[in-house]
Amino acid sequence: MDSTRKENPVFSKTDTAKVEISNEEWKKILPADVYNIAREKGTERAFTGKYWDSKEGGTYYCLACGNPLFNSNGKFESNCGWPSFFEPISKGSIIYAPDNTYGMKRTEVMCGKCKAHLGHVFDDGPPPTGLRYCINSVILDFEKAKDAEQKFDNKQ
Ligand SMILES: [Zn+2]
Repeated sequence: MDSTRKENPVFSKTDTAKVEISNEEWKKILPADVYNIAREKGTERAFTGKYWDSKEGGTYYCLACGNPLFNSNGKFESNCGWPSFFEPISKGSIIYAPDNTYGMKRTEVMCGKCKAHLGHVFDDGPPPTGLRYCINSVILDFEKAKDAEQKFDNKQ
């Protein structure tokens, strides 16, 4: 686990109940860079995040609350500098909102469980969806599929 990560009492990969706490509470829980993306709708600099170029198989969770968001099967190489996906892990994992800031008409994507800002979705993605979910690495918590297999093996 990342040593810069603070104690996060709302993070759970099994509890699917919606997380609704104030930004003041989030500020205590999340590291500053995560808070900036999740609650202040910030954007990490292109090509600086740890997952934009990652091709590993596994699951991407919301780093703020543990909600599963994307599977590596839904990830593609967009070369835009942010991890890009053509579909979320399930319909309810993400919520959408119109974003008309900066003189652009965009669609913001947020975590369906805690409403953390994740990034935006554009309609220039590959088939089958034609969508490109452009997501900040900072708000993603990746779990390698290999790790899951190892855990399974260890039990035997
Ligand atoms: Zn979340």
